[in-house]
Amino acid sequence: MFLKRLDVIGFKSFAERITVDFVPGVTAVVGPNGSGKSNITDAIRWVLGEQSAKSLRGAKMEDVIFAGSDSRRAQNFAEVTLTLDNGDQGLPIEYSEVSVTRRVYRSGDSEYLINKQTCRLKDIVDLFMDSGLGREAFSIISQGRVEEILNSKAEERRTIFEEAAGVLKYKTRKKKAEGK
Ligand code: ATP
Ligand code: MG
Repeated sequence: MFLKRLDVIGFKSFAERITVDFVPGVTAVVGPNGSGKSNITDAIRWVLGEQSAKSLRGAKMEDVIFAGSDSRRAQNFAEVTLTLDNGDQGLPIEYSEVSVTRRVYRSGDSEYLINKQTCRLKDIVDLFMDSGLGREAFSIISQGRVEEILNSKAEERRTIFEEAAGVLKYKTRKKKAEGK
């Protein structure tokens, strides 16, 4: 499973539609401060079901909608679509390409879609659970989180790596079996 494409309209600083094609290998997004690099990862976390406006660096969910600038009026909705290659069936769905879409309007109405079919937030969360890409996974590490990891104590840091490597659950089970 790998990311193929990200389509963003009206999300944060992206007033117009932008498309990011993820080619094989490493994709780097570069640009000056405030140009929208972090907004791209926010868009990925948002489409995967992030519910915390604060963790998306806003006060309320409406803050993800393009708020307007001197030259452009505000958008009425934000929409993000993430397209993944599912040739290896990493996601438990019988499609070799999977797209997930999330849309939110200023009225507060929101929609979720899998392959253009309306679904519930739960369906998206379930689809990505244990895939390594879910909203709780460590596949996206934000700027603040890096500092948090560097500043944490050695044992806490080890726990973060163990969780990311997927071995924490085995260690927890072992401890339990040993009666610790
Ligand atoms: P840095 O290098 O400092 O980390 P960055 O490239 O990651 O910067 P972002 O944090 O992605 O930058 O983008 C911040 C910009 O997004 C700010 O200019 C902010 O005004 C703009 N922005 C955020 N939300 C909205 C919104 N709802 N409408 C319009 N612009 C927005
Ligand atoms: Mg940033």
